[in-house]
Amino acid sequence: MTRAEDCIFCNIIERHGPADIVYEDRHSIAFLDIYPLNQGHTLVISKKHYATLDEMPPDEVGLLFATVAKVMKGVREAVGADGINIGQSNGKAASQDVFHVHVHIIPRFSQESPEGKTFPGRKKLGKTEMEEIGRKIRSKVQRRS
Ligand code: ZN
Repeated sequence: MTRAEDCIFCNIIERHGPADIVYEDRHSIAFLDIYPLNQGHTLVISKKHYATLDEMPPDEVGLLFATVAKVMKGVREAVGADGINIGQSNGKAASQDVFHVHVHIIPRFSQESPEGKTFPGRKKLGKTEMEEIGRKIRSKVQRRS
């Protein structure tokens, strides 16, 4: 399946849904999470629709994670993160919310919690702030491409 009806991520790929897109290539696309745990929280998705990671052919998993590594460097530089968590959920029991495979890039900061043991809560940032963060990440990632 290359796309699913009523999938908000497929809609973003086709530019039918709004998103601050920070990176795109033939296989994958990255955009800001609308309820970020921290500034710069980014999602990387495959352009083909798969619900969970185990449905994906291994070579496509490889391409997806190559993009994760590339975008992660740009995110770290853009927001000055001290660390990055990579998160990937499969199934309702694992708190998967959108059933189109996605990988979270979550910037972490030393001052937010000792040794990063507790996660920050979801936030809603202003449109202008999101656009500004998106611009910064885009320019950092493009410099590396
Ligand atoms: Zn989809």
